[in-house]
Amino acid sequence: MPREYTYGPFQSRRLKLSLGVDVLSKIKICTYNCAYCELGITSKDQLVSPEHRINIKPTINFQKELLSILKYVPHLNSITFGYNGEPTLNINLLDFLKIAIKVRNRLNWTESKPKLTLFTNSSKLYLDEVRERVKQFELVLAKLDAATEEDFKRTNCPHKDTPNLKTIINSIIKLRKEMPIDHKLAIQCLIYNSYKKEFVSNNNPENIEKLAYTIKKIKPDFVQVYSIARIPAQYFVFAIDQDRKKEIVEKFKEIIKNEDIKINYY
Ligand code: SF4
Repeated sequence: MPREYTYGPFQSRRLKLSLGVDVLSKIKICTYNCAYCELGITSKDQLVSPEHRINIKPTINFQKELLSILKYVPHLNSITFGYNGEPTLNINLLDFLKIAIKVRNRLNWTESKPKLTLFTNSSKLYLDEVRERVKQFELVLAKLDAATEEDFKRTNCPHKDTPNLKTIINSIIKLRKEMPIDHKLAIQCLIYNSYKKEFVSNNNPENIEKLAYTIKKIKPDFVQVYSIARIPAQYFVFAIDQDRKKEIVEKFKEIIKNEDIKINYY
């Protein structure tokens, strides 16, 4: 049976052994056009408003496909939603999640069950219905690469209907408060450099410092600092090195001063 919905499993730096689940079409569709996106540039047709709704329902093949793969990986750590753009665009996200939970609960696992994880770029979290869906995931990885409007626009190049950064940050804070106590929130910060003088990357001291203060307000469970690991959408951006990641983590810790927030680099 050709695979329609899943990728991997593969070893992920942040999730260990992870099976990717895609709830969108095979063509990237996103509310952002990030300079560093490893899926390439989001074309005009692929860039959509956060109000855009995709209506793809899981077919019986989703359950079959999951079962046929998961029975061979009893040591899996995560079933991870979101690989070809922004998964919260699909209004049927929870139908996929329910099937994944059902399949997971039918199988035996070597240690703990794999976590149901969601990647989101955070652009749609201002919508109540979207937060309601997102909070059902056991681990939410929410993107936040910028803490100033200029850095946000340059780095993430959002669709013109995307709310401003302040609204997005407030919606992450809201999500955090609404999530069940046993569900975890990780803030993902992808920090990169730029070869172009006129294109200031998000690795600038002002952005890093403001990001720390913003994360302090969000109070997530985890902060994941990482960088480009594959070919980026824009030719002029490149990865920060391990020393810089470490420095950023130290800066975050110094400002956040909260032992309950685990801050790491990958
Ligand atoms: S949000 Fe993710 S999928 Fe969308 S452009 Fe950015 S990196 Fe790519």
